[in-house]
Amino acid sequence: MKKIIVAIDGFSSSGKSTMAKQLAAAVGYAYIDSGAMYRAITLYAMRHGFIRPDGSVDTAALCAALPDIRIEFRYVPEAAASHTFLNGEDVEREIRSLEVSSHVSPVAAVPEVRHALTAMMQQYGEAKGIVMDGRDIGTTVFPAAEMKVFVNASPEVRARRRYDELRAKGDEVDYEQVLANVQERDEIDRNRKESPLRQAPDALVLDNDNLTREEQSAWLLDTFRRIADE
Ligand code: C5P
Repeated sequence: MKKIIVAIDGFSSSGKSTMAKQLAAAVGYAYIDSGAMYRAITLYAMRHGFIRPDGSVDTAALCAALPDIRIEFRYVPEAAASHTFLNGEDVEREIRSLEVSSHVSPVAAVPEVRHALTAMMQQYGEAKGIVMDGRDIGTTVFPAAEMKVFVNASPEVRARRRYDELRAKGDEVDYEQVLANVQERDEIDRNRKESPLRQAPDALVLDNDNLTREEQSAWLLDTFRRIADE
């Protein structure tokens, strides 16, 4: 069985990361959450005042700070999971907040931010044997990935999923607010100039509105085995 790169792209909260994580664990690959990297940079920008009160990004200040931003994934034994670290600090929980979600898409639209993170992601993939999820993994980061999956799900199903996750963590959000955020991010991610969210022509489509988690995992694993065995 050869080592391959698996790229899983799709809209926000489509269940990509759950699937990607499960597949990586099942086949012994590393899992990289590219959205977490954009979220960590956004948190840095928020903390340093690079997001203006009107929500726009101070691009010049953010670009000047890029060399000072270090993002890593480290395994945290107490959580039995890999967490995102920003300059040595565990920010896993904070980057998932609705506040970060509401600023991340404009930050992710800044070309210099995309170039810096894309280069970092390509390094992670050098030795292959990784599963990475995001918006442009199969199109821009790894256009030659052996397995590309594009996950589709309706905005309502995705907002419900996000809402349940945030509520389970004790965040007092309302469903309409979460749905509006999901739709707004779709719009920005789809329409930005630099590597917009789109399906790679050679991606396999997984429509997950009507599939159970078990069905999705089985489909992914079968597809992985077929491609890696070729
Ligand atoms: O996947 P997640 O929802 O955590 O991603 C957060 C945001 O990061 C997305 O809404 C998108 O704006 C941005 N992103 C991106 N390209 C990626 C991954 C995420 O632009 N490869």
